Formats: sequence, structure tokens, C-alpha cells
Amino acid sequence: MTRSGQAPPGMTRSEEAPMDHAAPARGKAPGADDNELGGIRIHDLAQTYERVTTREIVRTHALRNVNLDVAPKEFVCLIGPSGCGKTTILKIIAGLLRPTSGEVSVSGKRITGPGTDRATVFQTPALMPWRSVVDNVVLALEFAGMPKAQRRDQAIHYVDRVGLSEFYDHYPGELSGGMQQRVGIARALAIEPQVLLMDEPFGALDAITRGHMQSELLRIWEQEKKTVVFVTHSIDEALLLSDRIVVMKEGTVITTVEVPIEQPRTRESLLEHDEAIELRRELIEML
Ligand code: ADP
Repeated sequence: MTRSGQAPPGMTRSEEAPMDHAAPARGKAPGADDNELGGIRIHDLAQTYERVTTREIVRTHALRNVNLDVAPKEFVCLIGPSGCGKTTILKIIAGLLRPTSGEVSVSGKRITGPGTDRATVFQTPALMPWRSVVDNVVLALEFAGMPKAQRRDQAIHYVDRVGLSEFYDHYPGELSGGMQQRVGIARALAIEPQVLLMDEPFGALDAITRGHMQSELLRIWEQEKKTVVFVTHSIDEALLLSDRIVVMKEGTVITTVEVPIEQPRTRESLLEHDEAIELRRELIEML
């Protein structure tokens, strides 16, 4: 049995994950071969929310007929207007929401709930204010079931990864918004998931910090090479970051577009790149 209690925000905790004395449930999913580790398959997905009021049941058809494959280590952006279902897809992949119908699998294994093969980064990281930077990451590792003796070293490794080596013992209240979000990313990376789910992670940051964080994420992604599903409503952010852009409207995928531009990209280089300019124009027309 697992201990009851809330996993820290951003951590999706497996029901089966052991808590203290065993290694976290990482590595191969049962039945997955190496070619599909981290791959995501979404088949015929639909989600209808029901809200019961005193008079009636209000139904919102948030997703319908969504089919999408994401290759292992691919960086995909979901883009579309507010309310088109982007966050709902992310929650279903995270295992936080059971879909009304359809199926989602990760690494060839059907998702039935949260697991340490996936980690989520939200718009605001919701750190524990009474815990230091390193201890916030340690907490996620505790929930993931990592043995106590290894947690601090692992946390420090990923805090270094996001450029916060000088801030191990600082508390969240002593950090800027961008630095707090780095801690959120370190916390997600530290459990070494195969899939990173990011829901407008830089949406609350000012434009300059956002630019720095985008570059930082690309640098980390080059090193870590995870499958990333990144929700945004910014065409420029999608063009900068992704291998492929999934365009959504009214609860379904209307098209997917490859971004045929080599990384590393920068905002400046995209402004002068003919294919990027054309793609940007097409996306504006679609949305
Ligand atoms: P997006 O991320 O693209 O803005 P969401 O996935 O958050 O879209 O929402 C899709 C639709 O589902 C919206 O109409 C939203 O109001 C509705 N919705 C989202 N969550 C709930 C919920 N828990 N209960 C009822 N309706 C919801």
C-alpha cells in the first residue's frame, strides 16, 4: 500500500509507486520496446465535462475525435484559442483526468492514472514556501519513491541543471518568478520522466524572462531529450520550440504542421527565416 496524501504540484504520483525503501518505478514500461519509450498515442479521444446545478446538468464537450501520435523525444506544441481543449489533453496524458471515451497510451502502455514516467510543469509552480529550493525538489523525489539516501544528490543535480546552483538554500519567497519556475522544471526533471507535460509554463513571466526561459528549456531539452508536450497560445513560442505544432480548434485537432527549421533557433533568426515567416502567416490564418 502507498501512503496517502497529496503529491506536490507538478508531480504525478503513481498509485503503485513505493514510498521509501525501493527504487522509483522508472525505466521500461511493461511491454514497451526501446523504440517506443516515451512515445504517446492518442486514439479517438473525447471529453465531456458535466456540471450539475440545482436545475440542470450542463455539459461541455471539451474534446471530440482527437487522434495524435507523438514520437519518443519529439517536442510538440499544442496551440489554439483559449477553451479549445489543450489543458484537457494534457491532464488526460498526465493521468489526472479519465477521458469520457477513447484511449491514451505512453510507451505502449495504456494510461490509467498518474505515474513517474510523466511529469507536469504548470503555469505557476506552487512551491512549498517553507521548504528551500533543494528541499522542494527532494519532496517530489520522496513522493516518487526514491530512497532517502539518494534524494538530495539527485535534487542538487537538477537544481544545477536549471542554473540555480547559487540558490540551494533559498526559500521560494526569496526568488523571482522566473527562478521559481526553474525550480518547478527541476522538480519535474528530477524524477526523470520519459514525458514532460508543460502547460503554458512561461505564461506568467515578463517577456524578457520568458525569452531566457525558452532558451534555457531548449538547452535542457538538447541534453535530456525527453518527449515534450507543451501547451501555448503563442505562435512565436511554438515556432521557436517545437518539432511539430498541433493546431486545435473547438475541441479537436484541425492539423499538425512540421517545423522544418534546424535547432538551435532564436527569436531573431526566425524573424529572418523565409520558411518561418511563411509558417507563421499560415498559422495566423488558421487560428
Ligand atoms: P484550453 O486549455 O485550450 O484553454 P481547456 O482544456 O482548459 O481549454 O477547456 C476546454 C473546455 O472545457 C472549456 O470550454 C472549459 O471551460 C471547459 N472545462 C475545462 N475544465 C472544466 C471543468 N473541470 N468543468 C467544466 N468545464 C471545464
